[in-house]
Amino acid sequence: MTAGPANVPPAETAAWFLAQEPAFHEKWMAMALAEARAAAEEGEVPMGCVVVRRTPDGAARPVGRAHNSVEALKDPTAHAEMLAITQAAAATGDWRLTDCALYVTKEPCPMCGGAVVLGRLALAAWAASDPKRGAHTVFGMFSHPGLNHRPAVLPGCGPAAALEELRGFFRARRRRDAAGREALPGSAGTEDEAFGFGKA
Ligand SMILES: [Zn+2]
Repeated sequence: MTAGPANVPPAETAAWFLAQEPAFHEKWMAMALAEARAAAEEGEVPMGCVVVRRTPDGAARPVGRAHNSVEALKDPTAHAEMLAITQAAAATGDWRLTDCALYVTKEPCPMCGGAVVLGRLALAAWAASDPKRGAHTVFGMFSHPGLNHRPAVLPGCGPAAALEELRGFFRARRRRDAAGREALPGSAGTEDEAFGFGKA
């Protein structure tokens, strides 16, 4: 795929994404959820992410798609969003992802929120908010006056069934950790406790 110019103002792209029907967002969130499912099956924190690019012909296509791989890669930065953003930059041939939106199953953490800002993504959409360490909910990173880019946000994105499935992933993970089976170093009692739903 050709790279194309990435000089579209993020605000204009954000408005375009936000003007789409609910089915549009649900389609991408379903893809992110499939990634979260894969992460759960691999014993990773169940997070999935898709980066979608608005194409010049008025369509949209995924340019990055990943799930948490911290355990597999033994890399604390291998969150779903980081991997998907890196893929998107490689696919578009530009680190400025101004014509892209990020769909993630749970609100980004501060590290991933920083990547969204640095990558200048137009929109960050997530299904479940994180009232304990969400980049937006807790740290206000997506509207911070000290940062030079402020993506539009779409919290509570996706169908209710997706939220329930996500809740189940974290519940199962909590049970497993509590039982001491397959203890995941450094992760027990962290992600699952900080799980809010549909709140900005
Ligand atoms: Zn993260």
